[in-house]
Amino acid sequence: MPQRLGFGQTFAPIMYQAEFRDGAWGQGQLLPYGTIVLDPASKVLHYAQSVFEGLKAFRATHDRAVIFRPALNWERMNRASRRMLMPELPRALFMEALYALTAHCEALMPRSSGESLYLRPIMFGTQPTLGLAASDTFSFLVIASPSQAVASGPLRVIVERKRARAATGGTGDVKASGNYGASLRATADAAASGFSQPLWLDSVQHRYVEELSIMNFFAVVDGMLLTPALNDSILDGVTRRCVIELAIGAEIPVRECRIEIDELLALIEAGRCTEAFACGTAAIVAPVSAIGDGDGRIFELAQPLGLMSQKLRQDLLDIQEGRTEDRFGWLQSIPDQYYPAPS
Ligand SMILES: *Cc1c(COP(=O)(O)O)cnc(C)c1O
Repeated sequence: MPQRLGFGQTFAPIMYQAEFRDGAWGQGQLLPYGTIVLDPASKVLHYAQSVFEGLKAFRATHDRAVIFRPALNWERMNRASRRMLMPELPRALFMEALYALTAHCEALMPRSSGESLYLRPIMFGTQPTLGLAASDTFSFLVIASPSQAVASGPLRVIVERKRARAATGGTGDVKASGNYGASLRATADAAASGFSQPLWLDSVQHRYVEELSIMNFFAVVDGMLLTPALNDSILDGVTRRCVIELAIGAEIPVRECRIEIDELLALIEAGRCTEAFACGTAAIVAPVSAIGDGDGRIFELAQPLGLMSQKLRQDLLDIQEGRTEDRFGWLQSIPDQYYPAPS
């Protein structure tokens, strides 16, 4: 294994695959990791009939690997499939894929804090015809990547005043692959002006904060934790839910509400918004140190490294890595039958 793992760069030597044809999912199996063959006319390549998920398995201090809240990813993947006119995955198939892959990867799972086995389920239409219609055949694959947390030094985000990540009535609330390619131009422009990422606003009024390209957004105002209320252009993140549940458990007041960008910037200037952070499976919880605006103004947060966000990140990692009790029942262990037979 390389000295620096990075994120999503090294892949386990096995993957899981199942195929959908004639209206049903076939038996899935573990295979050697490798290239797949696609007909150039495959629907996914032309019309992006494709959805994905991202979740982690942890070894850390645990005796055996555990998978973090996989049922939420299963539900979310099926919500995406319904939106994209794709077949749903039976719970047993989704879980078997994660269990079998993780069990077979246990020996190569990193154990340092912040490291995990990142699991990436994907599903896409493979029918080789060009009519704009749903595919009638699909591939479901799960690949695994021993990873570090995505580099989460403080983020400097820039308010994206013109473009939108996801439209009202669109597919922003599901992990449909096309959403992500569509966000890249704004990310490149943010980088060119010295920022890490765009901060997306709503697509209608360009007025309310939504999220980052692959992370949800929180701000601390007057000691209260605020996050944009979910709508059909915000992704319902598992980490977002965890942060809310951890905050409630720690008696930190939390509100899901509309956050007007100009009001938020004024609250930073007035010293009432002291901290902001982003969260997602890959980066866990990452502080936002500054928010830039298109007119060149930069709003520096009083707590650029985050106080509340550091505590929430640590609380979450302590549960994931087994240093504190799994008091919410978030860790899913793997049934014995999925482990390879001892030789
Ligand atoms: C995946 C994703 C998130 C974070 O979701 P998690 O379940 O916490 O990983 C946030 N926003 C977008 C747009 C995403 O795609």
